[in-house]
Amino acid sequence: MSTQKIATNALHAGHDVTKNGGTRAVPIYQTTSYVFNNSNHAANLFSLKELGFIYTRLNNPTNQILQDRLAAIEGGIGAVVFASGTAAISTGLLTLLKAGDHIVASSSLYGGTYNLLNVTLPRLGITTTFVDASNPDNFRTAVQDNTRAFFVESLGNPKLDVLDLEAISKEAKTAKVPFIVDNTVATPALLNPIKHGADIVIHSLTKYIGGQGNSLGGAIIDAGTFDWSNGKFPEFTEPSAGYHGLKYYETLGAASYTFKLILEGLRDFGGALSPTNAFNIIQGLETLSVRIKQHSQNALEIAKWLEQQDEVAWVNYPGLESSAYKSLADKYLPNGQSGIVTFGAKGGFEAAKTIADETKLFSLLANIGDTKSLIIHPSSTTHQQLNEEQQKSTGVTTDLIRLSVGIEDVEDLKADLKAAFAKISK
Ligand SMILES: *Cc1c(COP(=O)(O)O)cnc(C)c1O
Repeated sequence: MSTQKIATNALHAGHDVTKNGGTRAVPIYQTTSYVFNNSNHAANLFSLKELGFIYTRLNNPTNQILQDRLAAIEGGIGAVVFASGTAAISTGLLTLLKAGDHIVASSSLYGGTYNLLNVTLPRLGITTTFVDASNPDNFRTAVQDNTRAFFVESLGNPKLDVLDLEAISKEAKTAKVPFIVDNTVATPALLNPIKHGADIVIHSLTKYIGGQGNSLGGAIIDAGTFDWSNGKFPEFTEPSAGYHGLKYYETLGAASYTFKLILEGLRDFGGALSPTNAFNIIQGLETLSVRIKQHSQNALEIAKWLEQQDEVAWVNYPGLESSAYKSLADKYLPNGQSGIVTFGAKGGFEAAKTIADETKLFSLLANIGDTKSLIIHPSSTTHQQLNEEQQKSTGVTTDLIRLSVGIEDVEDLKADLKAAFAKISK
């Protein structure tokens, strides 16, 4: 495992220039398939006697570099990339779970993930109990005989709750289930969940890691720490009918889940990342540690400034002294708390919509983590499918505005917000 720091790994890990024609930049291998030396070579690849490239839905040399780089940065033993963060989450869960299984999840989740767990997976017989994750004991009380995973976001989107990962990880160990952490908002430059007991880390690469708002992508990083032979996961210990009797755990040990994600997850669900998008995301990843410092610094300054404004009812940012999560942020996010700030408009729903409509530098759109500043009113957009009670449990109130603070000059950002505040009808 790499001992180098993230700023170094983000630029170098996974790319052996001697194997890639001396190219200093990571090349784009824009191909769907790979020529076999002969049929025996092909047979060895299909039976895993030899590792190599078969078809880009399973793997690709550009994607492999991104995978190795993400594994090095998060401190995992392997990683698999997907077409989007959502493809990573759905494939990651469907590779692990079957009808009759149960998840315990934080109620403070990305809207799409909440819907997957709340509506779509139950249709397939996989149910979820949502808990208030600010009290780790709630995970223990929600555990059932059929519980097979804990799922949380290290820094909830958009509630911005910082979780006590170590305490929740202890509960996952007691329940003998993998602890899955979506680390998209915090980013690996500010927090490494594996160091705090996560077994599986998920990223939407679309956000800060890509960073320029040009490519969708997702990733799963496998810590290699979970004991799949503990009796709760027969699919890992019994012969797999889907891969000519392969016993994953016996054959692949700690890397079982990583391989299952490729051999079953990508093979059967097909959410592969395009090599060109992998390349775009690598360009972003290389500067992540520099960008996230500026995002965090600008966000903290905007949050402090918002607290002083007459039009603002409340401000939520984990780096603020006033934040309920300040002490957890000091422990888990000491080098910055990323770029998302939420605040309440004093005039409620209508005033919040006006602010979102009237900013010019802050673009009104449904994304986060772009170098450019973004704004949205979740209650009328990303979270409109949820009723008011559900919105509340995910941290969304009708007056809430979510900012994704970019890396522009912070004084220009304040002026843009100030001008929009002036448009609220008194
Ligand atoms: C955006 C996001 C996702 C989904 O990722 P996509 O790449 O948009 O599919 C998942 N989790 C979090 C926390 C996100 O912000």
